[in-house]
Amino acid sequence: MTVSSSGSDRRKRLKAKREAALHRPVLARHLSDGFNGRWSRRQWVQASLFATLGMLAAAIVPGFSTTPAKTSHTPRYSLALALPPLPHTGTRSVQRNDWQVVRVEAGQTLGTLFEQLGIPASTMQQILKQPGARSALTRMRPGTEVAFDLPLNGSLRGFRYDRDDSHRIELSLSGDQIREKVITRPTDTRTVVISGEVGKSLFRSARKLGLSASNINTLTDDIFKYDIDFDSDVTAKDRFSVVVEQTWREGELLRTGPILAATFTSEGKLHTGFRFERGGKAEYFTGEGRPLKKSFIRMPIPYARLTSNFGSRRHPVLGTVRRHMGVDYGASTGTPIMAAGDARVQFIGWKGGYGRAVILDHGRGYTTLYGHMSRFGNYKQGQRIGQGSVIGYVGTSGLSTGPHLHYEFRVNGVHRNPLSITMPPPEPLSGAALSQFRAQTGVALARIREVEDVIYADAAPVNTAPVARGAAARPGKPKA
Ligand SMILES: [Zn+2]
Repeated sequence: MTVSSSGSDRRKRLKAKREAALHRPVLARHLSDGFNGRWSRRQWVQASLFATLGMLAAAIVPGFSTTPAKTSHTPRYSLALALPPLPHTGTRSVQRNDWQVVRVEAGQTLGTLFEQLGIPASTMQQILKQPGARSALTRMRPGTEVAFDLPLNGSLRGFRYDRDDSHRIELSLSGDQIREKVITRPTDTRTVVISGEVGKSLFRSARKLGLSASNINTLTDDIFKYDIDFDSDVTAKDRFSVVVEQTWREGELLRTGPILAATFTSEGKLHTGFRFERGGKAEYFTGEGRPLKKSFIRMPIPYARLTSNFGSRRHPVLGTVRRHMGVDYGASTGTPIMAAGDARVQFIGWKGGYGRAVILDHGRGYTTLYGHMSRFGNYKQGQRIGQGSVIGYVGTSGLSTGPHLHYEFRVNGVHRNPLSITMPPPEPLSGAALSQFRAQTGVALARIREVEDVIYADAAPVNTAPVARGAAARPGKPKA
C-alpha cells in the first residue's frame, strides 16, 4: 500500500506557484534590450495606436453617459430624499430625481425588489403581463440594473429594464394603463485580434487589452498548457495574439467571447491553437488538427491521495490475497469524481462489491470504472459526456472499509495500471471536419499576421492601419 504525500497540499503549492508566475515581473534583462532611453519606431507605433484607442473611447463615452439609467453602479435601495418639486415644464413632467437605479444582487428577485421598495405585488403582476417582460425579469442575473420612478409617498410611475442587450424598455404607469417606450441601443459584435507583449506580467498585459480572466485561463491552462511552461519559459518580449468576438454597446464592452484562435511566440518559436467544434463540443487543436487536450486525465478526482496501488494485496474486507485491479484514492464522502476522458456512459448502478459504480466507454477499446460512490451525477446510461464531467461522488458503498474511489482502467478488457500506462494520443480531426477546420484556421491565422505586421514590424509606417482599437485591429468593417 503506497501513501503519497498529501495531494491537496501539492495541488495548492502548484497553484500558488502558477499564480505567482503569471503575475510575477519578468526578468529585467529582457526589458533592457527593448529600451535604450529613446523610443524605437515600433514603440511610437504602439503609442499612437493606444492614443487612437483613447480618442475613440473619448468620442463614444459622452454619448453613453447621457443614458439615464447608468447614473450609478452602487446599489440604492432607500428612497430618494424629498426634493422640492421641479417646475412644470410643459407637457412632460419627468422628475428625474425620483428615478432610482437598483442593481440586483445574488438571491434577489423582482419580487424581493418590489417588496423592499414597498410597491404592491399587483403592480408587479401588471408589469409582468407586458410582452417580453416575464422572460427578462424573472431570470435576472446579479448585476442587472433596473430603475424605478417612484415619487415619495406616491405609487410607481415608471419602471425601466433591459429586455435584452439592445432593447431598454421604459414603462409609464398611470392607473391600470401602461405605456411602453422602447429605447433601441445598438450592439456591435466584432471579431477582433488582440495582440500584445507579455511585459511585466502576462495577466496584467492581457487584461489591459480587454481579455477576460477566463480568456487568460484558457490561454495558459487549455491551449498552451502542454507546450509552454508559464512558470519559467515566458519572457517580457514574448508576445501573444488571440482572435475573439467582442460585443460592444455605446462604447462599453459588454462581453468578450471565447478564444477562437491564439498564437504565442516564445523565444522565436510560434505556438498556435484553434477552437473548433467536434460533435457539437468545442475543443482546441493544433494547426494540424491534433487536439491540444490529453485523452485521459491521470486522476479522476481532485485533492485526493493514493491509498492503494495496482497489484496484489490482502483484500481489506475479505482478508484474502488477490490482485488489486485498480487504484484507490482516499477522499472524503461527497468529493466529486470526474470522467477521465470523453466517453459514453456504459453502466450506472449497483455492481456487487463495487457498490454504486459507473463504467465509461471511451472508444478505441478503453473503458474506466469508478466504484464505491455515495451517489451518482446527473447522467444516464448511453449518454455522451465530456472529460471532467462529474459522474458521481466519493462514498463507501459495496465492499469498502471507508470513503474512497476505486478506479479501474481497462484496455480491450484487460486491467491496466492507470498510473503507469502510456495514455493513447487523442484522436486527430479527419475527413470533412479536417477540411472545415483548415479553412477556418487559415482565415484566423491571416488575421493575426495582418495585425502583428502592423504592431510589431519596425518598418511599418506610423500612419498605417485600419486599426480599430489599440492593439486590436478589426478585420472587417468598423462601426461608423
Ligand atoms: Zn480498490
